[in-house]
This record gives sequence, C-alpha cells and structure tokens, in this order.
Amino acid sequence: MSCSAASFAPLPALILANTSIRSCRTLRDKRYDLLFEPVKIGPVTAKNRFYQVPHCTGLGRLRPRMLAALRGMKAEGGWGVVCTEYCSIHPASDDLPHPHASLWNDDDIKDHALMTEAVHRHGALAGAELWVGGARTANLYTRETAIDVASMPNLAGHPYQSQAMDKSDIRELRRWHRNAALRAKEAGFDIVYVYATHGYLLSHFLSAHSNTRSDEYGGSMENRARLVRELIEDTKDAVGEKCAVAVRYSVGGDDGEDPSLTSERRDRLEMLAELPDLWDININDYYQEMGVSRFIKEGSLEEHMSFVKSVTTKPVVTVGRFTSPDTMASQVRRGIVDFIGAARPSIADPFLPKKIEEGRLEEIRECIGCNICYAGDGLGVPIRCTQNPTMGEEWRRGWHPEQIPQKSSDASVLIVGAGPAGLEAARALGQRGYRVTLAEATRELGGRVARESTLPGLGEWRRVSDYRLGQIEAMPNVEVFRESELSVDEVLAVGADHLVMATGSTWRADGFGRTHPKPLTTLSTAARILTPDDIMAGQLPDGPTVIFDDDSFYMGGVIAEKVRRENVPVTLVTPENVVSAWCEYTSEHYQVQKNLLELGVDIKTGHSLLAYDGREVTLCCIHTERQQSIEAGALIMVTARSPRDELYQALKQRMEEGAQMPFRSLRRIGDCEAPAMIAAAVYAGHRYAREFDTEPDPDASCRLK
Ligand code: ADP
Ligand code: SF4
Repeated sequence: MSCSAASFAPLPALILANTSIRSCRTLRDKRYDLLFEPVKIGPVTAKNRFYQVPHCTGLGRLRPRMLAALRGMKAEGGWGVVCTEYCSIHPASDDLPHPHASLWNDDDIKDHALMTEAVHRHGALAGAELWVGGARTANLYTRETAIDVASMPNLAGHPYQSQAMDKSDIRELRRWHRNAALRAKEAGFDIVYVYATHGYLLSHFLSAHSNTRSDEYGGSMENRARLVRELIEDTKDAVGEKCAVAVRYSVGGDDGEDPSLTSERRDRLEMLAELPDLWDININDYYQEMGVSRFIKEGSLEEHMSFVKSVTTKPVVTVGRFTSPDTMASQVRRGIVDFIGAARPSIADPFLPKKIEEGRLEEIRECIGCNICYAGDGLGVPIRCTQNPTMGEEWRRGWHPEQIPQKSSDASVLIVGAGPAGLEAARALGQRGYRVTLAEATRELGGRVARESTLPGLGEWRRVSDYRLGQIEAMPNVEVFRESELSVDEVLAVGADHLVMATGSTWRADGFGRTHPKPLTTLSTAARILTPDDIMAGQLPDGPTVIFDDDSFYMGGVIAEKVRRENVPVTLVTPENVVSAWCEYTSEHYQVQKNLLELGVDIKTGHSLLAYDGREVTLCCIHTERQQSIEAGALIMVTARSPRDELYQALKQRMEEGAQMPFRSLRRIGDCEAPAMIAAAVYAGHRYAREFDTEPDPDASCRLK
C-alpha cells in the first residue's frame, strides 16, 4: 500500500506503515527551494530555514524523557532548529505548576543532553531559551524571593511582590545567567538565548514604564538596555565560540502602547542590532502572537516586524502560525525573515518541513489554531494537540506521527460515524492496512467539525476532517459510505469482524449540566428552547434570547456571537465569574469577552438558570440566591451533551442476551463514549487504531518521566 521511506527507522519487531500513501516520492516544488537553504547563525549553521521557536509543552524539567522524544521528533521531521521551552537559570525563577525547563545546577545538564542528542541525531541545531521570570513568577515551588527591576506585585496575580534588585543582585543575576549558559553549552546546545520579552524580568528593565531606577540601569534608553547588553556580551564571552547567541525581543505591536514606547523599541533594536547572532522577534500582545484562529489569521506579526531586517544584518526569525509553504517562501523572498519560526505548526505536524521537501503538501496536518496545545502548560500536564494525537506520546507510548505498526491480521472493521473519532480511526487503521468500512448518516463527512466550522471564526477547524479525508481518499482499503444511517440489523449485515461506534453526541436541552445534576422541571414544554445543534442546523431565534452557558468553554461564546450577528438581543448567562472560563487555558479568554462586549452581548456572570416559561427566564445569583427575570423569546442551552450510543447499547444488549453475533469485538469511541473536546475524539480514534489487534501496555499512561 505504502512506500516505506529509507529515513524511517523501523521499530523493533514491527513492520511499519508510513503515512505517505504515495507510491514514490515527488520532488519539491522549486518555489520552495529557498526554504531549504542553510543559514549561518554566528558560529553554527542551520541546515534549513525551519525553526521551531521555544514553546512550552507541559513537560519541562518534570518530564525530560518525554520532552527529549518530542523535540527529537521535530528534528526527525526536518526542523533545522529545535528549541527548549523557557529554561530557568536559577530557583529564584520558578513558574511551577507551569512545567518550565531549568539549568539550575549541573544535575540538570544530563536531562537536557537527552534532548540535544535526540535533536542532533537528525542534523538539527538545539536551542536553549534562558529565562528569568522576575515579577511574573511567585516561586511557589522553590519559595525563593522573586527579583525584578523594582518591587512590584506578582504579575500572574499571586499575593507576592518582587524584591527590587540592587547592584549586587544584578551582578548575581549575570553570574547565574553565565553559569546557565555554560551548562547549556555542556548539555550540547548550539544556540543560547537572552530572553528579553513576554513580560519577564528583562522586558521590565527595558521598559520606560516599569523601569524607574535612578542608577545606570534606569533612565535613558541606553541605561535601560544595559542589562540586556551585558547579558548578550556575557553569554558571547562564555559560550560564543561554540554557540550562537539569540535574543528574543518584542517590537511592540500593542494597540494600547504609547507610540513613543513602540518607536523606542525600534531604536533600541537598531542600537543592539549587531550584538547577538540572531533576532527572534515577537510582539507584546500574546493574544495576537499566540492568537486562536477564531480571531487571528496566519502571518499576523508581519506588519509589526517587517522593518527588522532593514536594521540588522543578523538572521531574523518570527512566528505567525505558518502552515502554507507559499506564505513561508513569500516571507523569505520579500526579506521579512530568514527563518520560518513555528511553535504550533510544528506541534500539529512535526514532519511539515519533510513534507514540503518531498512535495507531499497534501499530507500536511495543518494547525487549526485552537490552542489546546497551550492548555497543557496552564494545567501543568503534558501537551496534547487536536490535529496530532501522537503529540506528547512519543516516549511514553512510543507513538510516531507518521509511522504505525502494519496490520497483524486480515480482520475487517466497520466504523459507524465520520466525526473526528471515526475519521481518525479509519485513517490510522487504513494506514495499518486493515479493510475498513466507514458509514456516516449524513451526506457531509466530519461530524462535529463539519458543523462547528460553520460558526463564526471557526472555519479553520475544518482542517481536522480535510486532512483525514484527504488521506482516506487515497486508501483503497478504506471504503466510505455517506448518507448511511445504520440500524442494528444493517450494522450486522455489513459482516465486519470488528465494530466501532463513533456516533458522537447531542447537546441536551433539559438544563442538565454542572449546575443542575438533574433535568430542570421548571421549563415550559411550550417554550422555545434550542441547543447548539439547533443553531448549527440553521434554527435561529428572532427575538430576545438568553443563552445559559454551563459548559464554559468556547461554545457558549461562539453561539452568542452567531446569534448576536443576526441582530438579535442576546444575554449570555454563566454561573462562572467570567464568560467562557475555560478559554483562559487556550489563551483566548480576553478576546472572547472583548468581542462579545463589542458586539453588544449582555453578559451576566455568577448566575444560574432557574426556570423558563416561554416568556421570562428566571435566574438566580449563585452568591446571594437573589432572583431576577429576563424577558426572552428563546432560551439556548449550552450545558452538557448526551452520548449518542443507542446503536452501541442495542448491539451490546444483543450480545448479553447470548445471541450468536457475527462479529468479534464491539467498541465505542470519542463523544459516543464520553463527550469531550475534539482533541479527545481524535486521540480516541487514533488510540483505537494503534491498539487494535495488539496487547497494549496497561501502564503506558502512568509512565511520566
Ligand atoms: P466524535 O467527536 O466522537 O467523532 P461526532 O459527533 O463529531 O463525534 O461525529 C459522529 C458522527 O456519527 C456524526 O457525523 C453522525 O452523523 C454520525 N452518526 C451517528 N449515528 C449514526 C448511525 N447510526 N449511522 C451512521 N452514522 C451515524
Ligand atoms: Fe494547532 Fe490546536 Fe494542535 Fe495547538 S492543539 S498545534 S493550535 S491544532
């Protein structure tokens, strides 16, 4: 079925199936040749222009083996540079429970060496982003006092203040930084960063706003840049013969920033232009830099940073959730950047560079901009990705994003439901070589992603089904049947050896959810009560509408936007203290709230739903229990979902009744088993396919190192 690339090392005792469904490699398009040119960075040379910038993984110092395997996979996939996450230089900069990396002492060196070896094995350079959090860190783990340019409240909201650094503290900081750079060199890193942005300590020294010092580290632009300059020089002096020194730097790009501060950023960059070996450029507004596709599209930093190459001869990298090789080539050709920086596109597809290099563009698993990957850092757990179910599982499960064990029997599988779970199971089973039948009730394939991608801003989510359908289409062993809503008898009539129900879930209209553990009995049967499924199916309310969002992720806010854009007055009610509370983890919460307020959605936090009689919605304050009524012609429930598992239950019941069944196994996966985020459905489909016909390691998920 598939060609096996010589560059893929087979796992022991397994014949591996490669994702590529082409029978031979095509050559890359000449337009992309420039992306594969080597680029010199000080004393080292990157083999191409693909640069995985530092990004968090929820692994860091806590899980070095998982981290090394993850970063090594990026290198195997063709990234010319692969960096760590933020790497603390001293216990006085501790961000736990966010799992950062560290070079606190010599013991840390061997952990990093795991990563640099994994990266070097594939000819890539490894970069370490040395980091001092300053007033952004409360040092909850180490209990050291945080230091910063001044004594200021902890910027992550913890009840601590930093200690203002005096001259001896500055000398100490320089010593820590130098030692960490030396350890980075010993660990095998090729690039060492001075991290001067993202609201951490060095950005406070640079800023005329926060730097109010009267010594030689405060006052003029030159003085405020003194510490950064010294750290660049110290780092060059310590490791510059072997390692390149990079500076991560913000050029502003903040709507609220005083224009004089923004122009100073440019002047300062010009002043320091030739000091480091590389400039890694970003902007202040993390909601834009790390923006979800709902609000921010590809290449959004260009307008702010396009001047940089005109003021420095050093190579420049920036990010922009680049997934299109045309956009990448254009960025280089037009002289905007030297390197294509990426965090998320490299997570969604660690093999993105290889696929461009080999002309396999249709095999690229494009990032959808949902930021589920970022949530791991906030939650303190290993990274996961909606598009790439193998992300974070390279070490503990031994999963490879492009390879999967070849089939070990001639068994056939029927999958019912072509949502993300069913599509991924079909794709991965197909890749293994099994005979797969995929039956979908509707004409359109994609399940919830097909529906949800029609909601405001979520168009890119369709990439979840586009990628899988593209792969499946070229697999002769996977047959897809649309408009085939199967009954129990029809399922049995297919005659497959194994049955997988991936039939999804439906939103509930009865009020059941986190707040109400039972359906509400106070809802009039005559009232117009809708769910997100109804809205996505085109049923829109035409009068004042209340949305009760007890789900608290994106759906309530997106539905509010959709309905409000129809000029309907909308009140969004949530028992949480903020709208779309879980969107805090996906770093979009601020924009969600801003957007809804700008659209004129009335937001009512801290309230739960009591009743709806078709005319008035009764709410109750969760703090005071005070009640109030809002006139509404419709109520939209965004509370919880019911697994659509009737087919599974009916088949199971027949089995339990002792009926002779013509199949060997029955499983349910994805939302049909337990409704959750799209990433969980893709993962469930992938895991089913991986473990099919095998004896999976029961301890795999406990292995956290
Ligand atoms: P998941 O997120 O778990 O993949 P989705 O809700 O996205 O779930 O997709 C489930 C898909 O299953 C939907 O496209 C739905 O139309 C389909 N489906 C549900 N019941 C049947 C059935 N009896 N026969 C065929 N397809 C079904
Ligand atoms: Fe992109 Fe979402 Fe994957 Fe993150 S989780 S890399 S945003 S697809």
